[in-house]
Amino acid sequence: MLELALAKAFPGFRLSVRLSVAEGETLALLGPSGSGKSTLLKLIAGLLKPDEGFLRFGGEDLTPLPPERRKVGFLFQDYALFPHLTVAENIAFSLVEARWPKRAREARVEELLERMELAPHAKKRPKELSGGEQQRVALARALANRPRLLLLDEPLGALDLRLREELLLFLRKALKAEGATTLLVTHDQGEAFLLAHRVALLREGRLVQVGRPEEVYARPKDTWTARFLGHKNLLSPEESRALGLPPKAHLLPLKALALGGSLEGVVEERLFFGPRVGLWVRVKGVRLYLEAPEGPEEGAPIALRLDPAQAVPLEG
Ligand code: ADP
Ligand code: MG
Repeated sequence: MLELALAKAFPGFRLSVRLSVAEGETLALLGPSGSGKSTLLKLIAGLLKPDEGFLRFGGEDLTPLPPERRKVGFLFQDYALFPHLTVAENIAFSLVEARWPKRAREARVEELLERMELAPHAKKRPKELSGGEQQRVALARALANRPRLLLLDEPLGALDLRLREELLLFLRKALKAEGATTLLVTHDQGEAFLLAHRVALLREGRLVQVGRPEEVYARPKDTWTARFLGHKNLLSPEESRALGLPPKAHLLPLKALALGGSLEGVVEERLFFGPRVGLWVRVKGVRLYLEAPEGPEEGAPIALRLDPAQAVPLEG
């Protein structure tokens, strides 16, 4: 178990977080840019000193230990591959440092090259690789020494969409196979949901909600959290009332709305995504979003059904 309560202030910013992560668990830290995600990871890695607090892992106090004695594997955005070393040497780096015997080292490097589909690139230098391949090397390097604690700061951050999707699957496989306790930073809720057992939402240096992805997505705490998680139908108290709900803020999840029914509206925007269409509809003065396999053209009338039992009340 990783247990921490850490505080760190910068001019105009203060991080204060209390958190525990179970052995073998992957926790995603999710929050907008500037919310303190990297700062928290650096405090855990020992790259930054907390103003106050503690950090324990498996009962051991890590607070006084320098980074190299924390047995933490990390991948930070500003921590590039060694340009003069080959792919295999980059991956082996921490194993040499930790004095792994040669045979064990070679076997471990081999295993990671296979898993990350890097075997054909073993003897290349980083600059001969694509961005996605470089990121796979960085991931393999972070995992190599079998860290008990793995810290990944936006591991898919700098890549284009297609590569992100591809690397996501590698990452998922690697996290499962390694079983390390993992803190993964991302600003992408989809990534967090796919990779993590639990997600923790960070806003302005504070945790606003922690829970399983399904839980947090279905029951966001407040309007800010719901919007950050990608929900579109966030109703003010007045809009709730106009749609026949109690006069407080609500989230209408997609499953609360369906085509056909007694609510009459007009399609304002129709977005064709291929397997489905997204429809922005105006109903009783309220703009709502729904998705369906198909839907009417822009400007056409539309009849909707709203299931009030699916509406989720929100704090402010
Ligand atoms: P995130 O990773 O969520 O984008 P960061 O942890 O990098 O956020 O930064 C959180 C806040 O702390 C930001 O306002 C940032 O400008 C500030 N900050 C981060 N590192 C430093 C530093 N070394 N010195 C001063 N301010 C910093
Ligand atoms: Mg960051």
